[in-house]
Amino acid sequence: MYRNSRQIILKKWHYLVASRHRYSQKTNDLSKIRNIGILAHIDAGKTTTTERMLYYSGMICNMGEVHDGNTVTDYMDQERDRGITITSAAVTFPWKNCNINLVDTPGHIDFTMQVEQTLNILDGAVVVLDSSAGVEAQTLTVWRQADRYGIPRIVYANKMDRADASLPLCVDLLKSKFNITPLLLQIPVKESSGRFIGLIDVITKTIQTWHGACGQKVLSTAVEENTKQWEIICKSRETLIGDLADMDDTIANLFLDNGIDSIDSDQLLAAIRRVCLSQKGIPLICGSSYKNIGVQSLMDSIVNYLPSPIERHNLDVFKAFGSSLSARVFKIVHEKQKGPVTFLRIYSGELEKSQKIHNATQSKSENVGRVMIAYADDYNEVEKAHAGAIVAVTGLKSTVCGDFITSSGNALKVALKKLANSSNLTQEQSVEKLGVDLHVPDPVFFCSIEPPSQSYQLALESALSQLQREDPSLKVRYDEETGETILAGMGELHLEVIGERIKTEYKIAVDMSRPQISYKEGLLSSAKEEHKLDLKIGSTFHSVFVIMSILKAEPNKKLLSLDNSPDNASNTAAIHLNKLNIITSSVKAALTHGPKLGCPVIDVRFVLHWLETSKGTSDTVLSSAVNQCVHKLLKTAQTKLLEPVMNVEVVTDEENSSIVISDFGRRRGSIQDITNRSNNRVVTALVPLAELLGYSKDLRTITSGSASFSMEFHAYHEVSSKDEAEAVKNVTGFYPF
Ligand code: GDP
Repeated sequence: MYRNSRQIILKKWHYLVASRHRYSQKTNDLSKIRNIGILAHIDAGKTTTTERMLYYSGMICNMGEVHDGNTVTDYMDQERDRGITITSAAVTFPWKNCNINLVDTPGHIDFTMQVEQTLNILDGAVVVLDSSAGVEAQTLTVWRQADRYGIPRIVYANKMDRADASLPLCVDLLKSKFNITPLLLQIPVKESSGRFIGLIDVITKTIQTWHGACGQKVLSTAVEENTKQWEIICKSRETLIGDLADMDDTIANLFLDNGIDSIDSDQLLAAIRRVCLSQKGIPLICGSSYKNIGVQSLMDSIVNYLPSPIERHNLDVFKAFGSSLSARVFKIVHEKQKGPVTFLRIYSGELEKSQKIHNATQSKSENVGRVMIAYADDYNEVEKAHAGAIVAVTGLKSTVCGDFITSSGNALKVALKKLANSSNLTQEQSVEKLGVDLHVPDPVFFCSIEPPSQSYQLALESALSQLQREDPSLKVRYDEETGETILAGMGELHLEVIGERIKTEYKIAVDMSRPQISYKEGLLSSAKEEHKLDLKIGSTFHSVFVIMSILKAEPNKKLLSLDNSPDNASNTAAIHLNKLNIITSSVKAALTHGPKLGCPVIDVRFVLHWLETSKGTSDTVLSSAVNQCVHKLLKTAQTKLLEPVMNVEVVTDEENSSIVISDFGRRRGSIQDITNRSNNRVVTALVPLAELLGYSKDLRTITSGSASFSMEFHAYHEVSSKDEAEAVKNVTGFYPF
């Protein structure tokens, strides 16, 4: 797995030693826990920053560098190759009498489901900016996601060592893009040569400088009055206190009663914490992780300003569980020796080793094996873990990422009842509030995947089922007709990364077809057909006579219903449940290949009017008869081609909004809404996915990088006859004759 194996082995050894000796805090003191995510645009420096944090907290003895491919958090091979973070690695380390559980989040739009699952379990976040670029496209996306989950955050302006780094740029962009007031707590200090050497701390009125080979020593020097730096401090404190007074009554009163100079560092710190927790203000600090400047102050800020689990009121809903366990799975990794390792955030109660748990999402019970604290790819076993903790457990076999876990089915019932009584919610609303059900977006891309030879088929199946547990947005199905295994996912890169993981982690040299858009077929009209199948196999005579109708239906409606009319009820009521199950399965199988282009048929329902089978007719023959009848129905009713249409939201400045709108016109998009958000325009449009390939690059070009976008699946829409030729080419590779 590791390239520089000797260095990594040494590092792992130090890591284990360090973890045993230093992980001594009482993990059940909730006020001493920080569950934090790092959110950033790719390349802003979150991996480099995480590595430094582990080093300064004593969890590793050598620092890896991203470009050397030996950092602890980016431990999967693709991440090392691509330099992007794909899975959310959890890392725990001690700092200033607290335990920081740091969850790394994926940076690419295609992995949004993972980002959202991670945000679901966080109490706070550090948003890392590249200070030479400011707020970038992905920063906008993750910021909006963090807004949705109401996550308090601090901003770390990294890369201050770069000649083109600009703190004013970051401040301006934060103000204009997010309509927030950043609370500037540090000012970079540069030598006349431009070399970045330290930070002025506005709160403590000191200059901090970093020393030692890896910046492990931090020196704080009080700034003398009547110097240029003193002037900067006075001005910055004035702005900071003025801003804080607008957000916090305590500071406003102190300021009004006794003036700026009466406010001491502790009062300032407490006020910043209050406004950060209430998300009225965003502390802004700076540094250069690569040059080992500022990371310790960032860690102090995490402890000082971000909430502990008891201060995260968005998670109060889980109090309904009292002392019973409630937890969410946000990550699963498969390890050769330990098997599946499941990462959980515990919201309430305790989780002990060998405990029986109830998977509320799947209504299934399972036994936990070991309970461990995770350090990237190393673990420290514990007897039990408490509310607020992030733990890794072994032994869970059917749990998938995103599942909601409780101590028992009864604990869930009691909590739902409590919620219903206290908040006047229906059972359904309570289930939704707790996030019991897992919402997996529809996959919009697919490709076929083939093992190098038949002997690898089983290994491939097992790899795919493991990957699906880690990432429920990956779908796998076997196409009976073509004999191919089909992967479906959220984007081109999503499928590409899955393919690479199979090659590198599972050592199966799979062949994958080019990712294609997942077209579907929808009904043009309804139809009713009868079908008879008579077969003699050996000495047994098999006979099926079936009458069925096909009709258009709303998405996710019941697939098969029985004709209960007076003429037919006597027949349909007598159909055995086992036969009905076989019929439903064959209908589903038949729908995977529509008559138009062999795409799955959706939004249909069937009525079974009549079924006769002779004695001794096998299930297989019944299944074939139904399959043939469905194909007959589809041919008669005819289908039309449907394409996935995405709901796209572009946030851009006023100037570029008309360019974005006319570009949507060229992409067969229909504008849904144009609104203002702070100084920006938000354009929402429905656009066929086929027109959005490479959109992020195109958008960057047409708006000179000033816009950001996010998209999610909206619905399948009919392809007009004008655009059908292009769609046919997308599916078959050829234009139709
Ligand atoms: P991530 O994609 O956000 O995890 O970013 P990385 O930590 O992988 O960093 C991306 C690139 O920026 C790497 O080449 C780092 O060495 C470099 N980098 C990270 N932090 C700094 C910094 O403070 N200053 C400079 N100049 N480069 C940095």
